[in-house]
Amino acid sequence: MSSQPHAAILCSPGLGHLIPVLELAKRLVTHRNFTVTIFAIPSPASKTESELLKAAATPKFFDIIELPPPDISGCVGPDATVATVLAVMMREVRPAFRSAILGMESSLRPTVLIVDLFSTETLSIGDELGIPKYVYIASTAWFVALTVYVPVFDKEVEGKYVDQIEPLRIPGCKPVQPEDLVDPMLDRTDQQYLDYVRSCTNLLKSDGILMNTWEDLERKTIDALRDEGLLGRVAKVPVYPIGPLTRPVQSAGSTSTGLREEGLFNWLDKQPCESVIFVSLGSGGTVSFEQMTEMAWGLELSKQRFIWVVRSPAKSTDAAFFTSGNREDDPLTYLPKGFLTRTHDVGLVVHLWVPQVDILSHPSIGGFWSHCGWNSSLESITNGVPMIVWPLHAEQRMNATMLTEELDVAVRSKVLPSKKVVDREEIKEMVRKIMVDKDGEAIRGRVKELKLSAAKAWSVGGSSYNAISQISSGNQRKC
Ligand code: UDP
Repeated sequence: MSSQPHAAILCSPGLGHLIPVLELAKRLVTHRNFTVTIFAIPSPASKTESELLKAAATPKFFDIIELPPPDISGCVGPDATVATVLAVMMREVRPAFRSAILGMESSLRPTVLIVDLFSTETLSIGDELGIPKYVYIASTAWFVALTVYVPVFDKEVEGKYVDQIEPLRIPGCKPVQPEDLVDPMLDRTDQQYLDYVRSCTNLLKSDGILMNTWEDLERKTIDALRDEGLLGRVAKVPVYPIGPLTRPVQSAGSTSTGLREEGLFNWLDKQPCESVIFVSLGSGGTVSFEQMTEMAWGLELSKQRFIWVVRSPAKSTDAAFFTSGNREDDPLTYLPKGFLTRTHDVGLVVHLWVPQVDILSHPSIGGFWSHCGWNSSLESITNGVPMIVWPLHAEQRMNATMLTEELDVAVRSKVLPSKKVVDREEIKEMVRKIMVDKDGEAIRGRVKELKLSAAKAWSVGGSSYNAISQISSGNQRKC
């Protein structure tokens, strides 16, 4: 058997899943001298995911094996949620994943297995091989705390979670308001809830949970997860805060992903320092036509410079998840009449994919209006950019609350945008607050402090640097 540790990482479809997995793989290679094989199931319709996988394969840091997406048309209805589709897909791909691993020559087989929350049923393959097995939840410790505690809520809470008067209390952690709950908890009779509870139970059969956060960012929650007198009593498995793991900036002029847009960067280069707000709602986020109109007016009235990644309105964010904005219709036709002409000198409207990390790291960027997916949130923090948070789905409402109430690096609308259209006046105020107004100074200062804290976590001897060294290399397994 080779003495070099070898991690097999199984990754669900979706850019938000793929990006942190690619970064974890790189760290295992560079910091732990692992060899890594990523087993990815790209979303059928996402060109961007395939491009990212191709780019990640050169230069060859690790092996990538693309498993064909299983045909699940007979298992899920047309109205199935993203979470259900992913859970079913990962269940159905299990035999192919198992054969791929067991088909490897025994000296080349993995010594460690890493899966995500949608694929916890594959943890049993780790048992079969007698190797350590981890679950990588590329999210906050607060989300992990909720996930670990869901089987308890499932037994103890009566009725719908969303109808609870009191927030849901997790030992040692900030309580979760019913309106912030993750999508799978919104309806206890839906398949996605049943899948979520099962995943939460399976999670505790792993040898540890890797999280894309760091000690100084979420100390109280991480302590609670470890404390036998608090959440540790339920969690039972070690947690490893190994974040922030974010995509690096592409080297100048790089076209390795074919995605860099020269015109956009030429424009940014000409803008004053921290004067531009970047507006983008993730890889597939969309809003209604009415909300898009208010966004346009709010931006214009704020009199701030902007780059806006516009997507055509979609009825459901779920529908957009698997296509990553590959839709063909022209989103610019949905903008208010005259908007492009009136804002010509201060704004840039783009559509589809842009290199977000490169934009956020540009000195002209002073704010980020984001759907607060956790990758985007980390990319903003690590670049010291304050945010307007605009949660759409999944665990984004919790992220929004944490970013505004706990970390103080963001502003949010008075009412969730999913509940009511946020009007142009409120949008104007939020934009001005994070960009220029005096009452946004504390937020702008705080995010710069967190940028330093993030860098410290990954410096030599930092908390995440140390945490990744504690992951077992599994070399002691019996063949
Ligand atoms: N992203 C990007 N360009 C885009 C849209 C998204 O580079 O036009 C990247 C973004 O930098 C982040 C990821 O896609 O790394 C989106 O992940 P996140 O967790 O923020 O949200 P999701 O899209 O999964 O909801």
